[in-house]
Amino acid sequence: MDEQTLREAVRADAPRIRSDLERLVALPSIAFPGFPREPLNAAAELVIGLLRDAGAPSVRAVEVPDEAPSVLAEWPGSPTVLLYAHYDVQPASHDGWIGDPFEPVLRDGRLHGRGAADDKSGIAAHLAALRAWAGKPPVGVKVLIEGGEENGRQRLARVVEADPDLMRADLMVICDDGNWKLGEPTLTESLRGHGKLTVELSTLGTALHSGQFGGAAPDALLALVRMLATLHDDDGAVAIEGLQDGDWPGAELPEADFRRQAQVLDGVALIGEGSVADRLWAKHAISVLGLDAPGVEEAGNIVIPSARAKVAVRVPPHADPVRSMEAVRRHLEERVPWGAHVRIEVQPASTPIALDGESRAAERALAAAYGTPVARMGSGGSVPLVATLREAYPDAAFVLWGAQDSDHARIHAANESVSLDEVAAIALAEALLLRELAG
Ligand SMILES: [Zn+2]
Repeated sequence: MDEQTLREAVRADAPRIRSDLERLVALPSIAFPGFPREPLNAAAELVIGLLRDAGAPSVRAVEVPDEAPSVLAEWPGSPTVLLYAHYDVQPASHDGWIGDPFEPVLRDGRLHGRGAADDKSGIAAHLAALRAWAGKPPVGVKVLIEGGEENGRQRLARVVEADPDLMRADLMVICDDGNWKLGEPTLTESLRGHGKLTVELSTLGTALHSGQFGGAAPDALLALVRMLATLHDDDGAVAIEGLQDGDWPGAELPEADFRRQAQVLDGVALIGEGSVADRLWAKHAISVLGLDAPGVEEAGNIVIPSARAKVAVRVPPHADPVRSMEAVRRHLEERVPWGAHVRIEVQPASTPIALDGESRAAERALAAAYGTPVARMGSGGSVPLVATLREAYPDAAFVLWGAQDSDHARIHAANESVSLDEVAAIALAEALLLRELAG
């Protein structure tokens, strides 16, 4: 099939891309504790049906321990490409949604709803690419749609370890990413690893009256805040010894673009040091994700006896994630104020990834789909499955792309959306990639 035929097939498929995505977004498939299982099962069933419609000769649910099933479709052939996406989504409990997050609405060419971008757009793109080939791709294809990506439990890794042949492929296309700007084709070249620490400080056997005891009795929340404040210097650069930071070798991310995408308020400085790309893609980042202490509304006049924080560490490529987490742990332990009792639990970091342009075929296909050269960017985020697959299949090449543009998609936040043109463009890139690989 020539390039023009594929291009026209994807264009003609636009109504179907939209309806597939609307049906997927309407299901609140949230794989977090406390959410019902039925929408996850319904989403898996829907994905199975859509893959059959797209011509898959074999489709099945793959059981994953303690998770909703993944879905695997197979077209035999060689070489083999694995097309990955996930059907589970983040909860939509944040304030600020215009309308119901699970009633998809099209506004200005963007379909709004939880999961429209992350990552149901990936499923829609894979389906459209296969339909462009009339269900008969010119190479072997496996489509893997996971049902438990967002909760971080990484249960699919166990399936990969137990049966490595199941997902074996020559090229792994992870469609769970996006262009750095809408309509500007981008290949993601690196991913940071991600680990967490829970830090608990205790200073007193009980809560105390802050008038009677305050001034001499050590407050655990105050101690914790002082300790957390040592993680960064006055400019907000990470201030931990022994971290292996690098420099980003690729294209720069202009500060003005970053400020706009991040919606940084007027007059507020960016934190860290080096270029924006360095800070996002080549250096460590440390965030405080949450605190356990009395809330403001219910706060009483007490000296607080114990307090807890969750700290996240993003580990750049070429740094050793075990060493990084150990450095942060040691840093905190050495800075406990006033002899407070400390307990630190470390949740190990996933392995950071550097791809360094390993699929030229993907770059050609993406450039052809958009008609412009491809930008190579890092990603500050983490996709732990990539590390698992890379370890299991060291000879496979990896591609990270998708329709989740950094400008507007607002993944994980309120009013998530995806551009339907962008989904179609990524679908075309995938269709053209299959053609490239068939040689
Ligand atoms: Zn995702």
